[in-house]
Amino acid sequence: MNDFPAGMVWLVGAGPGDPELLTRKAERLIGRASVVFFDALVGREVLDLASPGARLVDVGKRSGRHSKDQRTIDALIVEAALSGERVVRLKGGDPSIFGRATEELEACRSAGVVVAVCPGVTAASAAAAGLSRSLTLRGLARKLVFVTAHARAGDTLDLDWAALADPGATLAIYMGKSAAGAIARGLQGTGMAGETPVALVENASLPDERRIVTRLDLLELAARTLGDGPALLLIGEAMRTPGRRAVAAAAQAMERETP
Ligand code: SAH
Repeated sequence: MNDFPAGMVWLVGAGPGDPELLTRKAERLIGRASVVFFDALVGREVLDLASPGARLVDVGKRSGRHSKDQRTIDALIVEAALSGERVVRLKGGDPSIFGRATEELEACRSAGVVVAVCPGVTAASAAAAGLSRSLTLRGLARKLVFVTAHARAGDTLDLDWAALADPGATLAIYMGKSAAGAIARGLQGTGMAGETPVALVENASLPDERRIVTRLDLLELAARTLGDGPALLLIGEAMRTPGRRAVAAAAQAMERETP
């Protein structure tokens, strides 16, 4: 199959960290690349799949420390493709979720470079798997919301709390660790119950994965106990410890019936 000619760019999802969670397609594309531009969250074992002759370029950004700005990354990718390289742009999780994929796709297209996307397992899926919980829950969590709590430097977090405080949704909050206090206050301020179940998963799918299941009013405290790995926050009824779900449902039913 020649879906990767010289001069082409593939934006490839590297998944949440565990190399076994790469797709077979991602593995094949990484192995065929002559150059791989990778993010901070992409692990060594994934990079080891590159061919021995390939160039590996770290363009990683970790919050606060921007090693290369987005425009520089766009330019590097385009330049490599125009010089006839087979380019893999390797991104954590799924490239289309909070991954700045649009900028890179547009930079390629406007330079006449052929570009395609290989999806990956996103952090929310890996976090739910680690918790052995489902992100959706029949009848109770019919909506799954992917939201980023990342604010531009100097800006305060500006989210539509009223829309997010939906008891029928599961919120999967990316980049939310340092904003955990603001998130808990924002959601409770628009009526979400303090006892709403919350799960925090740090380093999902990796050997040092940490999972905390708590409640919304304790979210800030729980977030403070995490280390400096990437962490995902999951908020909503679907995160309730299974044995307690029946109890909570009965309590809600009683509340509704009590005049
Ligand atoms: N495109 C990525 C998300 C990039 S934004 C994806 O689809 O997963 C980076 C954020 O993703 C981190 O701040 C964190 O909230 C989350 N994240 C990425 N990898 C993670 C992991 N292994 N465990 C928990 N959260 C992770």
